[in-house]
Amino acid sequence: MSQRRWLHIQVGFQETPNFQFLISSPEAWKPSVVIITMKKTDSKKMKVEIEGSSGFCFGVRNAVDKAEDILRSGEKLYCLGDIVHNGQEIARLEALGLITIDSQQFRNLKNCKVLLRAHGEPPSTYQYARENNIELIDATCPIVLNLQKKIKKSYQEPTSDKQVVIFGKSTHPEVISLVGQTENKAIVVENISDLTVIDFSKSISLYAQTTMDTRKFKGLADELHLRNINQKGIKVTQSICGAVSGRESKLIEFAKKKDVLIFVGGKKSSNGKMLFGICLAANKHSYYISSAEELNPAWISNSEQVGVCGATSTPIWLLERVAKQIQQIG
Ligand code: SF4
Repeated sequence: MSQRRWLHIQVGFQETPNFQFLISSPEAWKPSVVIITMKKTDSKKMKVEIEGSSGFCFGVRNAVDKAEDILRSGEKLYCLGDIVHNGQEIARLEALGLITIDSQQFRNLKNCKVLLRAHGEPPSTYQYARENNIELIDATCPIVLNLQKKIKKSYQEPTSDKQVVIFGKSTHPEVISLVGQTENKAIVVENISDLTVIDFSKSISLYAQTTMDTRKFKGLADELHLRNINQKGIKVTQSICGAVSGRESKLIEFAKKKDVLIFVGGKKSSNGKMLFGICLAANKHSYYISSAEELNPAWISNSEQVGVCGATSTPIWLLERVAKQIQQIG
């Protein structure tokens, strides 16, 4: 019996922009079977782009700048709650000396300096600080401060049948600060299914947490009007921040143009989750990560256009780190 030898002899060679085809025969001069192997040649370089409006919004930028200024002077500084919903940025500031405390720890402090982050605080926090010689470095975002004032004014209007309703997440610090303006009487709703708690025999003033989804807010307001069979007054104040709502349309456009979208946001970031949902609807190849280490090379293999973007609490240095890592993988 003749010994069969498998000789791979190249009998042809073709190239496309992305692939090489190697055509060979298992037996010399008897090409009854032809094997075609294909390998990617990567002739096109992967392009990685960070979306232009990404990085901190001005409210978060202001809080971080204030913290850095004080820490640089060597003073001890506490921050009530996470200064920003981004673990990596918190770690960077804590390495500079920032001490993050929760509200329980805050109520054990006296004679010190405490930073209030962009989300704002209810009146009870200011009162405790006054009574315990705590100097507050108030970095509440001016947009949140303005919303607090509007809600307080609305609550204090002399109408006995008025309900203040806030579209938001009841446990979110900004919402806690807003509800605090109404002696904790405001009703918080997150979904249309929550509207059952509203008394439609009373008039309604509707507001939104600044980082909510504009389309959901509109849907909620429309539903309130539909259920208003008693024709009571409904006043809708669209209080979603332009730094968030303005980013929505830009992200949709950006996501549509990319093969793959990498969204970088903190695990606790409310607007991160909301903005990511918008990206995912525009591009199903969108992935949420919190750090460069979470990148999965399989997501971006064979991609030519990779987009990187983030929440209003995602620092630009982190987006740049992720973009660099993608470039290295690609
Ligand atoms: S998202 Fe808007 S309201 Fe919230 S901190 Fe940033 S700028 Fe201020």
